[in-house]
Amino acid sequence: MKSDVKRKIEKLLSSANLRRTGPRAAILRVLLGARKPQTAGQIAAELDSAGLNKVTIYRTLESFIGAGLVHKVFLQERTWHFELSGNCTESQCHPHFTCTNCGDMQCLMEMTLPMAKSPHKGFVIGRQRVQLEGLCPKCNLNL
Ligand SMILES: [Zn+2]
Ligand SMILES: [Zn+2]
Repeated sequence: MKSDVKRKIEKLLSSANLRRTGPRAAILRVLLGARKPQTAGQIAAELDSAGLNKVTIYRTLESFIGAGLVHKVFLQERTWHFELSGNCTESQCHPHFTCTNCGDMQCLMEMTLPMAKSPHKGFVIGRQRVQLEGLCPKCNLNL
């Protein structure tokens, strides 16, 4: 493991007041290296050699979510995708774009959207999670 990644992992864990364990460090390493949200299955596949089972991965992800380190980004094909909270706030996550042609998914880190307002009395919006669909630049230019 490269030392800068190791340092990032230590920092994330200490900021969340979590003890460093093998599974925690391994899963954070996968999320730090990922360019897009990951399913528990994808994380498990990455960690095949580490011998982590899915139950451990889910439990570890839940502890990260509880500590605010990780967000559940969206459900796709009935599977949750996870990523590091990064610069996202409690109330708003950066938008995600899915290409309807090739299925590629991207984090739109630099895009900010106004927070939705409650349409009627009595609604409390706790968090805004936006999923955009359309054509990615690659597919758009090839069509
Ligand atoms: Zn595409
Ligand atoms: Zn993202």
